[in-house]
Amino acid sequence: MQIIRIPGFNPGPMTGAGNNTYLLPGRTPTLLDAATGEAAHLSALAEGLGPDRLVQVLVTHAHQDHADGSEPIAARWPDAAFRKMPWPERDRAHEVAWQPIADDELIPAGDGALRAVHTPGHAPDHLCFFDEAGGTLFSADLVVPGTTVVIPASHGGSLSQYLASLRRVQALAPARMLPAHGEPIDDPQAILREYIEHRQRREEQIVAALRAGAGRPEDIVDRLYDGLAPALRGMARESVVAHLIKLAEEGRARSEGPEWEIA
Ligand SMILES: [Zn+2]
Repeated sequence: MQIIRIPGFNPGPMTGAGNNTYLLPGRTPTLLDAATGEAAHLSALAEGLGPDRLVQVLVTHAHQDHADGSEPIAARWPDAAFRKMPWPERDRAHEVAWQPIADDELIPAGDGALRAVHTPGHAPDHLCFFDEAGGTLFSADLVVPGTTVVIPASHGGSLSQYLASLRRVQALAPARMLPAHGEPIDDPQAILREYIEHRQRREEQIVAALRAGAGRPEDIVDRLYDGLAPALRGMARESVVAHLIKLAEEGRARSEGPEWEIA
């Protein structure tokens, strides 16, 4: 399957060097992710398509840096279909006629087909797309090389689901992963294992902090993150809360108002 990486031209604090979108030319010209609608993205997409029409845009999840380009792309390529796994509260923000994608659906794309792999955790609607013939997994925000992935506990994120998603992709054994941020990943098993181990170590630290009497998420943040920049405290707190909710789901921690303790 031919793959053309088309940068989103949207670098920033939340997107790193900017988003990667991927154009699959061929029988079914397909764009994976809409990025944010920068003029340079639309020009690069037009150039990648050449004389071909754009048949469809498959959006990996509703976060702004993946979905906000939908309207500008729809305005320029009005025949293109826009498809994603539904997340109705968020999808409504876009004036495109979303067509739903189901987990495990096989979608014609490029010169082959992509398997939709529902991988919630970072977002409830998160999809990876797997080119089973070529072994390439378009991994969206499941992993971001060089850093960890935000699990926004108060905005649809779930750490238990995220860990299950990492394991689901481990079992698919992709030969390489193409993420929505950062460079291609040539050893997916190593990074997936690293990610799972990182969360396990974090969980052990959080359990230890609870045992030592840290009760509020803010107290746990203070114990875990040394010299954290104030701007990052909100994200660190979300991550701690995601762990606490997972522990509560497993009956290992409980909360009374804002205070948490070992169950
Ligand atoms: Zn995201």
